[in-house]
Amino acid sequence: MQSLPDFDLVLFGGTGDLAMRKLLPALYRRVAANQVSKGSRIIGAARSGLTRDEYLSQVEESCRKHIGKDFDREQWEQFARSVEYVKIDAQAERDFMALKKLLAGREECVRVFFLSTAPDLFAGICEGLAKADVVTPASRVVLEKPLGQDLQSSVQINERVGAMFSEPQIFRIDHYLGKEAVQNLLALRFGNMLFEPLWRRGRVQHVQITVAEDLGVERRAQFYDQTGALRDMVQNHLLQLLCIIAMEPPATGDPDAMRDEKLKVLRALRPLRGHDVQTKTVRGQYKAGAANGAPVVGYLDEKDVPRDSTTETFVALKVEIDSWRWAGVPFYLRTGKRLQERQSEIVITFEDVPHSIYERPDDAHAWNRLVIQLQPVESITLSVLAKSPGHGMRLKPVELSLDFRETFKDRPLDAYERLLTDVIKGTLTLFMRRDELDAAWAWIDPIREAWQHYEERPKAYTAGTWGPAAASALVSRDGFSWRNEL
Ligand code: NAP
Repeated sequence: MQSLPDFDLVLFGGTGDLAMRKLLPALYRRVAANQVSKGSRIIGAARSGLTRDEYLSQVEESCRKHIGKDFDREQWEQFARSVEYVKIDAQAERDFMALKKLLAGREECVRVFFLSTAPDLFAGICEGLAKADVVTPASRVVLEKPLGQDLQSSVQINERVGAMFSEPQIFRIDHYLGKEAVQNLLALRFGNMLFEPLWRRGRVQHVQITVAEDLGVERRAQFYDQTGALRDMVQNHLLQLLCIIAMEPPATGDPDAMRDEKLKVLRALRPLRGHDVQTKTVRGQYKAGAANGAPVVGYLDEKDVPRDSTTETFVALKVEIDSWRWAGVPFYLRTGKRLQERQSEIVITFEDVPHSIYERPDDAHAWNRLVIQLQPVESITLSVLAKSPGHGMRLKPVELSLDFRETFKDRPLDAYERLLTDVIKGTLTLFMRRDELDAAWAWIDPIREAWQHYEERPKAYTAGTWGPAAASALVSRDGFSWRNEL
């Protein structure tokens, strides 16, 4: 494994949920894998006045919890030696001087400023860094989603961040792109001849992308109520997955070659405006029900949610791509909270044979499909019809499972492990370029505007189900079913 260059990674929001649950355990794993040089440092930054020891004890507790049985005392000590803490209030210019002091004399090594804070702090932090004169040519800034609330706020953030960092220094993260199964989807598409000729209209019947969560809003209600499922999930994760499926083969493996192709897909999305929004989108909000066998409250009874909130906790969309490759192939996107299971998957259903000479199951059309599962486990399964044992040519579905864990034995990298190492190496392929983000917001904004115009409340669905009945109708109107409803 290639070791990383010496780096200083400054983790703004270093005491927050994302840092503790995902980022620091991911860095621990890279240290444990001997990929991080002894001279590298991880510097947590937040407003809390913690000593280094106090911070380390929070980080240790979190790493123990999230690394589980692989947690190792010796590896922890090696990791802990690289961890520092600095108290910075993003809104207090003078606080950045403490960071300047800590970084002094290390101008040559890679500097990563990972902003795991609310997005309204992004621009201020970048300006604070620039005023403290700690932005070097080898610096990178990582921006967590959501980048703004709409096109206008996203443009404002990007302009202010862009005044301090050049575009190749800006890493807009979408952790779905770091998942092993998404990487494998790319390998499958562009590393083999098998799928590419089939990857188009006339061969693909329809595509489904589901990102379902069984959790409710947890302790993020204040943020979530201002955001909703469309902006929290569709604008970034679901559209990015759609781009990976629908893009043309890039000419090279160069980051911009890939990002150019994704941008073309975003620009080819048929706009959903006015009446289309009523027929091609469904928004829902969960009411009381059950999760994992226990009763749970409805969204409006969650702490910090206004009793009259119209924020959607579920959204389903029928999306069309106006291109030669995809014209007429519907892409159905669905995401929500408090659904029946935590499950994220992409399902590509191929056209049925034009004429069958064998006895086939009634639902044969549903079995020519490729399922890329992202959660709870990452896998790729190809379903085909095969002959059932015995006399006669009766066909039955069988699954060809591409079990990467079985084949490759190595533990696959967690999405954040991959993305953090890419940032340190300076590889931009899996990060969103600014024009992609603008195109995604430009497509999303009219949907929200139309929802506001029609003033309909989101459709209620019972917690622990697969969302409102209208989401099933969206797909069944075209003669299809969501995979879990087959
Ligand atoms: P969080 O738990 O609320 O943590 C926020 C962090 O920001 C804390 O470390 C907080 O520490 C720090 N902070 C707040 N105000 C600050 C200020 N003025 N100056 C410096 N630091 C400040 O939030 P989170 O869940 O970790 O999320 C962080 C970002 O990642 C958000 O933009 C979120 O939308 C995004 N995100 C989160 C997740 C997730 O699973 N949590 C997933 C994807 C994206 P102090 O209070 O000590 O300052």
